[in-house]
Amino acid sequence: MTGFGFYQRISKAYYGHPHLSKLLLVFTVSGGGGLLVYSDRGPLMSNTAFDDDIKRKKVVVLGTGWAGTSFLKNLKDPNYDVQIVSPRNYFAFTPLLPSVTNGTVEARSIVEPIRNIVRKKKFDVQFKEAECYKIDTQNKKVYCRSGHETNLGGIEEFAVDYDYLVIAMGARANTFNTPGVVEHAHFLKEIEDAQRIRRSVIDCFERASLPTISEEERKRILHFVVVGGGPTGVEFAAELHDFVIEDLAKLYPRLKDLVKITLLEAGDHILNMFDKRITTFAEDKFQRDGIDVKTGSMVMKVTETEICTKERATGQSVLIPYGMVVWSTGIGTRPVIMDFMKQIGQEDISAIFSKADTNNTGSLKVEDFKEVINDICERYPQVAIYLKKKQLKNFVHLLKNSQGEAELDIEKFKSALSEVDSQMKNLPATAQVAAQQGAYLADCFNRMTLCEKYPEGPLRFRGIGRHRFHPFRYKHFGQFAPLGGEQTAAQLPGDWVSIGQSTQWLWYSVYASKLVSWRTRILVISDWGRRFIFGRDSSRI
Ligand code: FAD
Ligand code: MG
Repeated sequence: MTGFGFYQRISKAYYGHPHLSKLLLVFTVSGGGGLLVYSDRGPLMSNTAFDDDIKRKKVVVLGTGWAGTSFLKNLKDPNYDVQIVSPRNYFAFTPLLPSVTNGTVEARSIVEPIRNIVRKKKFDVQFKEAECYKIDTQNKKVYCRSGHETNLGGIEEFAVDYDYLVIAMGARANTFNTPGVVEHAHFLKEIEDAQRIRRSVIDCFERASLPTISEEERKRILHFVVVGGGPTGVEFAAELHDFVIEDLAKLYPRLKDLVKITLLEAGDHILNMFDKRITTFAEDKFQRDGIDVKTGSMVMKVTETEICTKERATGQSVLIPYGMVVWSTGIGTRPVIMDFMKQIGQEDISAIFSKADTNNTGSLKVEDFKEVINDICERYPQVAIYLKKKQLKNFVHLLKNSQGEAELDIEKFKSALSEVDSQMKNLPATAQVAAQQGAYLADCFNRMTLCEKYPEGPLRFRGIGRHRFHPFRYKHFGQFAPLGGEQTAAQLPGDWVSIGQSTQWLWYSVYASKLVSWRTRILVISDWGRRFIFGRDSSRI
């Protein structure tokens, strides 16, 4: 499947916030999926010379998902003492999660133990299976809680010190506080979610087969609803349809005409981050398949048996009886991260300001500002992109405006930057972005000891500083949208669109090659082969 712009971005919450500081930190080393690095000297930066007695710096990595694992795989400098904290002791290949929901691929085929991944490192890497619940930036500690009980029946808790903290804990499913979602809907984010969905689909079929169930009730139980027309929701709906048509229809012949799949989307189209041609193809295909795509339909509430929606066209509320609902409307920021962002607050912005404010007056001369703008653009590419897009209008405007006053105080500086902030489009929350960020960050760490000699800062300032690390730049390789029935759409760079069965084969080969290990590759390929020959297994285990 696809990651793709649809996923509501982790940093969305930061963007509404009027502090560029947050944006700066997040954007430089993070983006969609979410990767942050933090040391007490600010993001990835250090002004102090490296100790001569090269003490091993403690690097703590939170999370073993795409970003964290890519970071670990690419980290080569043995001069770090690396500790990983994550509630799951494996890496999961999320693009194949929708295939796990119906048994096209088995869960164990797409996971790899993290200890297996780091075992080949030439240096010591420790793993702790726990979740971080608090980050204390002041004392450089992360507080963790394991899922294991202590002898006394309490929860194991511990703290880990860090010199550098790599935050790669991904995002959480977002319910937009819609009542009943957490209680009644399935999410599709973790391996466990996919396994639960698989069981629950079979449960619906078995329940509907019981003799005591009325016809109407049977219809309700066999109504599968997917909320969210993004890549995940669409792929899941397509996979479910294949499962029903290709496998379950044969096993439950009396039920097959009662099955209904509905896809609810609040916007005007499904897959709206894709090219129009793909959207249209997908909508047409779903219509032919009998998947009911309802656009302009906003879910207001979910109860045990019904979904309440508000239809934009008519303004009316509609009650939809359902048997199973999968919620896939996007992602949100984890509370630990929100708390962390609050702690680091304004640091960055005042650092830029005071760097420009050479004579410490608390206000910037336009001249001073011009001096740093290049530095800012180099370090925070979003500012450069913004300035290019706006053809320098706003900053120059701002400078012109302040020309009268000849000075620019920190408040004006902030509001100029928050203007950039509000205009920024973040990177898509995809595995592709997260993996590249992890690799980029590892590369910075690999070069860090070499660079420690130079103070951070623009070259033109005091003549000695330099940019040790160029900011992260994302390279987009294209995106897939599997649509079921051996049909996949792909949108490749340069607006190249390809749809059909050959694209499905391209999808098979790309995802097989992207799997983390030969073991998982062989498992997945044999799962696909097994499915071709024997179909999917519908046993409820
Ligand atoms: P994750 O990969 O989510 O990793 C987060 C890690 O942090 C996990 O190991 C988690 O256990 C751990 N963690 C969580 N909480 C804590 C805590 N408190 N303390 C410590 N650790 C913690 N993208 C694509 O590019 N192509 C696709 O085809 C695609 N398909 C997808 C299909 C599905 C069903 C889903 C859900 C996503 C898909 N994505 C795809 C998106 C992709 O999975 C994400 O963009 C990517 O996982 C983000 O990487 P991450 O490292 O930021 O977070
Ligand atoms: Mg990660």
